[in-house]
Amino acid sequence: MAKVLIIGAGGVGHVVTHKCSRLPDVFTEICLASRTLEKCKKIASNLPREIQTVEVNADNVPELIALMRQYEPDIVINVALPYQDLHIMDACLEVGVDYLDTANYEPLDEARFCYKWQWDYMERFKERGIMALLGSGFDPGVTNVFCAWALKNHFDEIHEIDIIDCNAGDHGHSFATNFNPEINIREVTAKGRYFKENSWVETEPLSVTKTFDFPEGIGSKKIYLMYHEELESLVKHIPGIKRAQFWMTFSDNYLKYLDVLENVGMTRIDPVMYEGRKIVPLQFLKTLLPDPASLGPVTKGRTCIGCLIKGIRDNKEKTCYIYNICDHEQCYKEVKSQAISYTTGVPAMIGAMMMVKNIWQGTGVFNMEEFDPAPFMGALNKYGLPWTEIIL
Ligand code: NDP
Repeated sequence: MAKVLIIGAGGVGHVVTHKCSRLPDVFTEICLASRTLEKCKKIASNLPREIQTVEVNADNVPELIALMRQYEPDIVINVALPYQDLHIMDACLEVGVDYLDTANYEPLDEARFCYKWQWDYMERFKERGIMALLGSGFDPGVTNVFCAWALKNHFDEIHEIDIIDCNAGDHGHSFATNFNPEINIREVTAKGRYFKENSWVETEPLSVTKTFDFPEGIGSKKIYLMYHEELESLVKHIPGIKRAQFWMTFSDNYLKYLDVLENVGMTRIDPVMYEGRKIVPLQFLKTLLPDPASLGPVTKGRTCIGCLIKGIRDNKEKTCYIYNICDHEQCYKEVKSQAISYTTGVPAMIGAMMMVKNIWQGTGVFNMEEFDPAPFMGALNKYGLPWTEIIL
C-alpha cells in the first residue's frame, strides 16, 4: 500500500521500524535512513523482513531531496532529532511527500521549542497538496488524542487538562535518560510554563511539585510541573479551555545528579573553549551517558502516562482520567526496546498508518487532536498500547 522512509536510527527509530515491518500490507516497502549507516543495518538485521538502509545527513536538504527522489516514498517518518524537523519538511515540500514527526522543531543553539516554526509551513504544504502530522509520539501524540477522545465522548466543554507522565521504571544506572540525553536535559532544565485563564504562567525549572496517586499499583509519586509542547496546540484547538498543565515524575537520584551537572556547567548548550577548540558541554556529556537504546535489557518497571481532564457535560461537572500503562520488560520482549522508545515508536507507526490509509487526511500542517480520535484509539489497543478510562 505505501512506501515509507524512516529517518533516524535511534531508540524510537528502532521501534517504528520494527512495528512497520510487521505490517507488510500497510507498509509495503521500508527504507531506514540515518547519519550512521551501521545503526540502520543493526536494526534491519533483526526484522521479520528485508528493508533498505541508507546513510543520510538530515541537516543537508539537497541530500534529503536526492534520497526522496530516488526512493519515492509515500510518507516520511522523522524520528531523528528536533533540530532536523524543518530541513526534512523543506525536502518533503520540494519533492511532494507527506511528513510525520514526534517532536517539534527546536533550534540547536537555543533551548526553546514552539510550534510556530512548523505551523508557518501551513500554506506551503496546502499549496503543494501534502500533509504534515506533528507530534505523533506519546506526549505529544497519544496525550493529544486522549484529549480529543474525551471531548468527543465525555464532555460538552473541557476546562482543565493535566497531562501526567510517570516513568516508574529503573535501569540500574546512577544517571541515564530514556530518550536522547541532549533533548531530555534541555527539556527538563528549561523553565516550567502552564496555561491559565488565557495566558501563560512561567515558573522556575522543577519548582512546582505535588504528589499524584498513580493507578494499578504504581502508587503515589512526586510529580513536577514542566512546559511541554502539546500544551500549545491543545490550548489552540480545544475551545473553552481554562487551564492546561504538564507534569512528570523524576527519581531523587536523577534530580540529584542533574542538579550537580547543572551547577558545574555540564548542561550548558553554548560552546566553551577546551584545549584550543570549541565544545558544547551538553553534547560532550551526551557522549558519556548511556545510549537510551542500550537501556532495553536492563530496565524494569512500568510507565503510566495519561490525561486528567475536567469539564462540563449536560451542565454538570465531570472528571475523566485516561491512561496507558506500559511495561519495560514486556516491550523488550516484543521489540528489544525499553518502554519510552516503545511508547513513542508505536504512535508514530499508527499516525503513519492513519495517513497512508487515508483515515486521517488533509493538506497542510496538523496536530493530532484535529482528527477523529476513534480510529487511533482503536489502533492503540491493537498495536501494543492499550488504554483505560475512569470517569469520576
Ligand atoms: P536518539 O538519539 O536515540 O536517535 C536519534 C537518531 O537520529 C540517531 O540515530 C541519530 O544518528 C539520528 N540523527 C541525528 N541527527 C541526524 C542527522 N543530522 N541526520 C540523520 N540522522 C540524524 O533519539 P530518540 O530515538 O530517543 O528520539 C528520537 C526523537 O523522538 C527525538 O526527536 C525525540 O525528541 C522524540 N521523542 C518524542 C517523544 C514523544 O513522546 N513525543 C518521546 C521520546 C522521544 P546517530 O545515531 O548517528 O547519532
